[in-house]
Amino acid sequence: MFVPLVDLRAQYHFLKADIDRAIAAVINEGAFIGGRYVSTFEDEFASACGARHCVSVANGTDAIYIILRMLSIGPGDEVITVANSWISSSETITQAGARPVFIDINPAYHSIDEDLLEGAITDRTKAVIAVHLQGQMCAIDKIEQICKRYGLMLIEDCAQAHFSAYDGRLAGLTGVAGSFSFYPGKNLGAYGDAGCIITNDDSLAERCRMFARHGALKKHHHQIEGVNSRLDGLQAAILLTKLPHINAWNEARVSNAARYESLLSGTPGIVTPKVRPNSRHTFHLYVIRAERRDELALHLDAKGVKTAIHYPTPLPLLPAYRYLGKSAADFPVAARFMNEILSLPMYPELTREQMEYVAQQVRGFYGSL
Ligand SMILES: *Cc1c(COP(=O)(O)O)cnc(C)c1O
Repeated sequence: MFVPLVDLRAQYHFLKADIDRAIAAVINEGAFIGGRYVSTFEDEFASACGARHCVSVANGTDAIYIILRMLSIGPGDEVITVANSWISSSETITQAGARPVFIDINPAYHSIDEDLLEGAITDRTKAVIAVHLQGQMCAIDKIEQICKRYGLMLIEDCAQAHFSAYDGRLAGLTGVAGSFSFYPGKNLGAYGDAGCIITNDDSLAERCRMFARHGALKKHHHQIEGVNSRLDGLQAAILLTKLPHINAWNEARVSNAARYESLLSGTPGIVTPKVRPNSRHTFHLYVIRAERRDELALHLDAKGVKTAIHYPTPLPLLPAYRYLGKSAADFPVAARFMNEILSLPMYPELTREQMEYVAQQVRGFYGSL
C-alpha cells in the first residue's frame, strides 16, 4: 500500500467540475489581478472568520511582514516568537528591521510555552507572534493577558490553523491581527501561493491594504512606498470554490486523528498528539513523538508510508540565526523534540484502510502488533 503525506489530487477530483469552471471563468473575464473573485473571497473569508476585514496578499509570509511594518515595528524593537515553527514566523521580524527573540515550546502541545513569555520581555519588546502550530491554538488567553499587561501587540500566525478554535474563539482575532497562508498543502489551500490578513482594526486593515498595493488605495495615488503583494484572481476563484467545504474537511481531519489515536495509543515507543481542553484542533499535521524516530521513518518509507519532520531544527539553531549565539541548552524542549517528532500522513480523504495500514507499520516497528 502507498500512503502519501498529503494528497492534493483527491480534493481536486472531488471538486473538479467546480474548480475547472471557476478557472475558466476567471480567464474568460480576464479577472487576473484584482476584480470580483478577489473581493468576494475577501468578504467571504472575513465573514467565515467573523472578522471585520480580510486583506488578501500574495502569501502567508508577506501577511506577517505587512502586519509588522504597518504596526511600525522596526529597528531597535524586539518581537518574541517560538523556537519551533516555519521560518516565516521569524524572518519577517528581521525583514521589518526588528530582532527576533525565540522562546521554547510547551512539551504537551509543541507550541509557544506561555509560561516563558514574561521572562523574555525587555524594554525593547514591541510584539509577540503567537504561532498556532499543527492546527492547534496556543494558550492565547494567557498570552493575551501578558501582552495587555506589558502593552505588547499580539499577532497570530494562523497559517496552520484555519478555523481552529480555543475557548470558543477562532484563530486570528484575539490580538491586533492574524495572518493566514493558503499554500497548497494548508487546510485551505490554493493552487499556488496565497495568503491574507484578518483584523477588526479598520485603520490597520486600510494601512495593510495600501502597503500591499504599492502604497496606494487608489491607482497612482501613492501615499507611501509599499510592496506588491496580491492574491491573484485564479487563486481567489479556487479558494472561493473550496471555502464552503473547509468545515467538512477539518471535521474529516479531526475524525482521522481520532482513528489514529485509537489505533496507536498505548504503542510503546510513541506519544500521540494531545488536544488542549476546550480546543478545536484542526490537525493540519498529525505529529507523534517517537523513539528511534529516524529508523521508524526509514521503516515506514520502505513500507510505502510517507512522513515528514515539522521541523527538523529549532529556528534559533539554524545557520541563519547563528549570530544570536544560541545553543540547544537555551531551548531544551524544542531541541529534544526535534529528534523525536514525526508527521504521519494526514489529509481529509485518508481512508480507514490507509490509517490501519500506517498504524500496523508503526506498531510492527516497535514489535507491538
Ligand atoms: C506555511 C506557513 C507560513 C508561510 O506561509 P507561505 O504562504 O508559505 O508564505 C507561515 N507560518 C507558518 C507557521 C506556516 O506553516
